[in-house]
This record gives sequence, C-alpha cells and structure tokens, in this order.
Amino acid sequence: MTKNIQNQLFIITILFFLIGIVHISFSIIGLLCFILPFILYYKTKDKVWCKYYCPRAGMFVKLLSKISLRKKAPKWLTGQRIKKIVVYYFGINVFFATMSTIMTSIGKIEAIDYVRFLIVFKAPFELPQLMDINMPMGLIHFSYRIYSMMFTSVIVGIILGIIYTPRIWCVICPIQTLTTKKM
Ligand code: SF4
Repeated sequence: MTKNIQNQLFIITILFFLIGIVHISFSIIGLLCFILPFILYYKTKDKVWCKYYCPRAGMFVKLLSKISLRKKAPKWLTGQRIKKIVVYYFGINVFFATMSTIMTSIGKIEAIDYVRFLIVFKAPFELPQLMDINMPMGLIHFSYRIYSMMFTSVIVGIILGIIYTPRIWCVICPIQTLTTKKM
C-alpha cells in the first residue's frame, strides 16, 4: 500500500517559495508539480499524486486545519462550470507562459522580472534575489511564470481554505479535474 506522506511534504511548498527568493530560475522545479501528477496517473490509473504526495495539499492541511471556518461550500464552487473555467484558465496560462517564453528567448519581448497574480496582475511585492546568476532571459521569464502560477493557486487556495475547508482548492484544481474523468 502506498504510504500517505502528503502532510509531511508540505515543507516542499514552503521551500519552493523560498528558493524563488534565492534565485528565480530555481522555480523551474515547480514544473514537477504539473508533470508528476499526470505521469503517476498514466502509470497507475489512480490519483496517486493527489492522494499521497501533493505538497500543496499538504500545506493547505498543515496551515489551515486549525483556522479554517469550515463553512459549507456553495454550489458554484463544487459544480462543473467552475472546474471547466479553472481548467481553461490553466490552459491559457500555460499557453501564454510558453509563447511569451519563446518570444522572450528570441528577443521579441522583454522578460518579466516580477511575480504575477492571475496571469496579468503584478504582485504587490518585489521578489528579492539573493544570488546573482547569469541565466538566459527566456529561463528567467519562464521561471517567473511558474512561480506566478504556484503563487496564484496557493493564494486562492488559502483564501478558499480559510472560508470553507482546508483542501477546498482540490475541488477545482485543474489537476484533479483532468485526472478524474471527462468533463
Ligand atoms: S487536486 Fe491539486 S492541490 Fe489537490 S492534491 Fe491534487 S494536485 Fe494537489
């Protein structure tokens, strides 16, 4: 039987946000959170990642279990429509991140050097960079995009988790939706 170590892995989520402060290019490791769930699902035909390993869900549980108001989730939050919207949002986000990275790499647009919330909004803080490493601008840009995706999902997940239940984000998480069944 697979051991459930999800709640212990919450620290990986914290570390992810911290290594982005050391140097944003380390955030590329966040791609694993998008790729591993699908690899595991493909191999096992089960939501192994969501059940046993996801560090983001582990962080929601660790952080919010004691403070969540545990209000009943409204219908709009548990219905199919919102799941579809979040999957489309995720797809658009990946598309923009990929295309803008290509454009940055060929010098057509400038790399972003800040974190974004919900694709377009500039986060109200600067991400300090403790290391000065020379990296291709395309990689810098893509790393900020990955960091921004994780940042957005964690902020939305925390807000929803405080109001409803700690893992309410999982109900609308695109990875959950895409590894469940046809929408
Ligand atoms: S639904 Fe999303 S946040 Fe929840 S466990 Fe799965 S991948 Fe993690």
